[in-house]
Amino acid sequence: MSNRKSKIVIRPSSHYCPRVSTIVGIDLGTTRSAIAVVEAGMAGLLADAEGQRLLPSVVHYPKDGIPIVGWPALRQRALDPARTIYSVKRFIGQRAADVPEPERQVDYTLTGNSLAVKLGEETVSPEAVSAEILKSLKTRAELVLETEITRAVITVPAYFNDAQRQATKRAGERAGFTVERILNEPTAAALACGLEKLPEQARVAVYDLGGGTFDLSILELREGVFQVLATHGNTRLGGDDVDQRILDWLLEQIDGDADVTLRARVREAAEAAKVALSTETVTTIQLPFISGDTSFECVLTREKLEALAAPVIDQTRTHCRHALADAGVKAAELNQVILVGGQTRMPLVRRRVAEWFECAEYAETRGDIRLGDSFHEADGPTLNTSQNPDEAVALGAAIQGAILSGDITDMVLLDVTPLSLGLETFGGLMNVIIPRNTTVPTKAGEMFTNAVDGQRQMLVHVLQGEREKAVDNWSLGRFELESESAKRGAARVGVQFEIDADGILHVLARDTATGHEKVVEMKSAVDVDDTAVQKMVEESVEHAFEDMDARKWIEAALKAREAVKAGRGGLEDFAGELNNAEAITAALESVEAALETESDLPQLKAAVAKLDEATLPLADLMMDRAMEAVLRQRGMLD
Ligand code: ADP
Ligand code: MG
Repeated sequence: MSNRKSKIVIRPSSHYCPRVSTIVGIDLGTTRSAIAVVEAGMAGLLADAEGQRLLPSVVHYPKDGIPIVGWPALRQRALDPARTIYSVKRFIGQRAADVPEPERQVDYTLTGNSLAVKLGEETVSPEAVSAEILKSLKTRAELVLETEITRAVITVPAYFNDAQRQATKRAGERAGFTVERILNEPTAAALACGLEKLPEQARVAVYDLGGGTFDLSILELREGVFQVLATHGNTRLGGDDVDQRILDWLLEQIDGDADVTLRARVREAAEAAKVALSTETVTTIQLPFISGDTSFECVLTREKLEALAAPVIDQTRTHCRHALADAGVKAAELNQVILVGGQTRMPLVRRRVAEWFECAEYAETRGDIRLGDSFHEADGPTLNTSQNPDEAVALGAAIQGAILSGDITDMVLLDVTPLSLGLETFGGLMNVIIPRNTTVPTKAGEMFTNAVDGQRQMLVHVLQGEREKAVDNWSLGRFELESESAKRGAARVGVQFEIDADGILHVLARDTATGHEKVVEMKSAVDVDDTAVQKMVEESVEHAFEDMDARKWIEAALKAREAVKAGRGGLEDFAGELNNAEAITAALESVEAALETESDLPQLKAAVAKLDEATLPLADLMMDRAMEAVLRQRGMLD
């Protein structure tokens, strides 16, 4: 039964395509990973020798010998927590400053700015840990398919930034793959559900609640092509948080201090109870011999679990609202809502999502809702649970792999940028080059000029984020471009941003006078100074008004300073010929006084207006003199 669900029939290509080589699809999850492949038009997950399709994203490093991955590693979590690495996806491509303290609380030790895992005297990077998981999946695929597998599509949450995508790609390469594409998870899930069969302009929400990430994406079908209208989420919200709540509740009942080993055991029991309660209404948690010969036993009902989990689940609602608002779509206008991620098996999640999206009556039993059937009759979107929620992403990645290798040619996928990309400009403002939610691959550029006379270096400071002030955004990197020494405002430097199909940003800067140019790929995880994406978007909303005020002030202040500079220069040159020099001086002083308030925009504007008025005769005079100079040069005046 479930096997059937993990296979999808793909429309065969209308042309004959020679098969280049198999490209596998990999869902590199925070808690579970999976590998899938399309063969003879069927997408399916590849199981290990024991028939397990999901691989726990856990790596155990024994003191001697090679790393152990998956189920046996998971068993080591309680026994040897310091050397058993889980949820490493939370740290890949991140620096210590990016990850808030509470989220760094894991049962192993993280060290340094690069968040390496400490294993006795040695350390191992999150990238290397991920590579072990990928290697294990590669071996599995090679055993099943009886051929060498070197090409893969790997998925990442839509909210992963450039550094996280790059680090994931490097992990794939380290595992021996050529990474053909880094694909957003919700987009992969949509593919797995065969969305191209929906009517033209159908809109779909993909609600993905996994172990450690949450994403909501809105897609639209246009001429058989998926367009991602918006995506919103939180890279640090998921089933782990539900487990944590159960864990806390259990620890309250277990007297005495719980050491690391006991905590790990209780966490394991908490998750098992949660999973059981997706199908049962009551379960018993048993922990034999938790200290000496004391054992622990308690009953957990679905009702109690739902009370514990509701605050976590409810946090996803804001993101749903944001995504809908960003896409300019109302819930009722959606055709379907797809549930993805193991945590969406929880009945509470299904009820909540059905309620929030005003879904039409949905059947509790999976399999009743099938795409292509004329099920969608009632108002509101259909809650689509046709795929196993924890398998859909890998299946979609495999379908994407088949598209890339030419096995499927009648589908195209488009992704979007989760955050705006831009440059720092005069006065420390963010100048957006590629706005948030732009479909990639994409290219955009702008001309910039020098701020100071004779400036020889142009600083190109690449930013990512939604805030108006440069400092409030993340710095992706900076470099300098030699430019021809020119008068202020005369130099021309063209900057072009290009985001490739993997979502990786390439920045090109060129001095148009000299042709001198630099191309920089923004990929170093260590150079990126980013905080949580979710935080970024929330803060941009929270600070929208003050940000806007700040931008207005900075822009007005720049203009005011220019006006003051020009006015003072003019006064020096023409003081003798002006009959309102005193008025100009007074106006200049009041602009300077307004500038000193550093915030009083109305005062500044009024002062600048007065100055403009006072300097009118000066401007006329300057214009006359300039005219005279030109005429004299041409010999038209004596
Ligand atoms: P990720 O993509 O983050 O690796 P998955 O999509 O595999 O995660 O989901 C893992 C999460 O789903 C875990 O928190 C796990 O406990 C939870 N989960 C798996 N199966 C069930 C279930 N039957 N009921 C409730 N939660 C489940
Ligand atoms: Mg997932």
